[in-house]
Amino acid sequence: MKSYDYIVIGGGSGGIASANRAGLHGQKVLLIEGKALGGTCVNVGCVPKKVMWQASEMLEMIRRDAPSYGITADIKAFDFTELVTRREKYISFLHGAYQRGLDSNKVDVVTGYGKFVDSQTVVVGDEKFTAPHILIATGGRPSHMNIPGGEYAMDSDDFFAMTKKPESMLVLGAGYIAAELSGMAQQMGIKTMWAYRQGRPLRTFDPMLSDNLVEMYQEAGLSLYPEYVATEIIKNDDDTFTVTFENGAKLQAEKVLFAGGRLPNTQNLDLEKIGVKLDQRGFIAVDEFQNTSVPGVYAVGDIIGKVDLTPVAIAAGRRLSERLFNGKKDLHLDYDLIPTVIFTHPPIATIGLTEEQTYEKYQAEKVKVYRSRFTPMYFALNDYRQKCEMKLICVGEEERIVGLHAIGIGVDEMLQGFAVAIKMGATKADFDNTVAIHPTGAEEFVTMR
Ligand code: FAD
Ligand code: NDP
Repeated sequence: MKSYDYIVIGGGSGGIASANRAGLHGQKVLLIEGKALGGTCVNVGCVPKKVMWQASEMLEMIRRDAPSYGITADIKAFDFTELVTRREKYISFLHGAYQRGLDSNKVDVVTGYGKFVDSQTVVVGDEKFTAPHILIATGGRPSHMNIPGGEYAMDSDDFFAMTKKPESMLVLGAGYIAAELSGMAQQMGIKTMWAYRQGRPLRTFDPMLSDNLVEMYQEAGLSLYPEYVATEIIKNDDDTFTVTFENGAKLQAEKVLFAGGRLPNTQNLDLEKIGVKLDQRGFIAVDEFQNTSVPGVYAVGDIIGKVDLTPVAIAAGRRLSERLFNGKKDLHLDYDLIPTVIFTHPPIATIGLTEEQTYEKYQAEKVKVYRSRFTPMYFALNDYRQKCEMKLICVGEEERIVGLHAIGIGVDEMLQGFAVAIKMGATKADFDNTVAIHPTGAEEFVTMR
């Protein structure tokens, strides 16, 4: 049995970050990864998604916007297969980069699925490893539809495994993934239908965002089906699929994609052997220091089901290693005010409370909301005048900003800086005291009346 100071199970965003930081502090570290270094984000998440999003943005610019600038740019071909090949080559390069990073911090890597023997011992195949500190960073996997024919629906992993562009796709679900993949599919020339079971998608976000998104997706030619609850999927003789809905409607497409949330990878870890407590949804329960119910066993990232974002997993993983191995006894991640971008067309950027949450938390008279809706100058010469809409939510006499929401071209790259200010407690006056940068969309945030 090999001994280590720290064992990390799962080589995704959180696991790699924590392992590297522990290695940097001179610890003897083992990282166990079952599939591919980089985890969800690198292999079937952020990275392939952003590549595809960028390709679809480019197609949209050339097709829709270039003529308004007097540019004639016919798209002679869009080779989906070539795009996927190049994307996967880039992902292979990232695997190498991650391996080099781990090597430089002297982190040992074992390929295989790890499970607990006891709270200080993990087995991979027939090899056993022991350490006083063990991190569970095994992430999540897509959930599947529990209806007859549910197995015919692809998940996001299958979407990224496609090497040929389908003619048509029906997307079921209402969150980040459904919103992102339906938008990019439509822009790539896939006839896209998006059906969601409630009145609007992205229900956990400020409604301003989904109201605009619905309008813009309809303008882009997507067919949207609100309040459509799928009851059955059948495979047709021509290999297409027909989905039946509760209201009796039927939609047919070459591919059906389901994106209705993710499940924690707690299976195969033998957690019951060591008694790690799960929460009601089956995610690993942790305290604010990422401690599980078992001393010496920790969890970060999607496996705790708190905020499923790569930088959150990384930040929690690094802070944990700083606390355990660099004497920073009180260091932990503050999960409040985490900025996030949804890579829709156009993108959505959001941080903090929605308007409804603000009114719930603070008395109505203390809340002040600023909004701005305008046509970005990018569309000035275009017959199509896509809007950008922004909202600032402030509380108290001092108008502290507790929520910032935006949808429109370029907002994805605007948010990070504003997030710093908001995290530092910025007020509306601080925003107003900052001189605008003209002509940009971002200047609206410091000139709102
Ligand atoms: P993961 O990255 O999932 O890593 C877990 C690793 O553990 C995996 O490699 C898995 O193979 C391994 N593993 C599981 N069980 C075992 C075991 N028993 N033994 C050994 N290894 C095991 N986030 C963003 O911030 N921005 C985005 O744009 C974004 N886009 C996304 C797009 C999609 C389609 C998806 C699905 C997710 C996206 N996310 C995005 C979320 C982001 O990918 C996750 O939050 C992040 O990857 C979580 O990191 P993690 O370390 O917790 O888990
Ligand atoms: P989400 O949690 O974002 O959304 C899933 C939604 O789908 C639910 O809220 C629900 O909405 C709907 N849904 C659930 N079950 C069903 C069902 N049976 N039939 C129809 N609709 C259903 O999950 P995703 O899978 O989209 O994404 C998982 C996570 O990955 C995200 O929460 C995010 O943290 C991360 N991610 C981040 C990205 C980014 O940073 N840009 C991109 C992609 C993913 P309703 O109740 O309204 O029907």
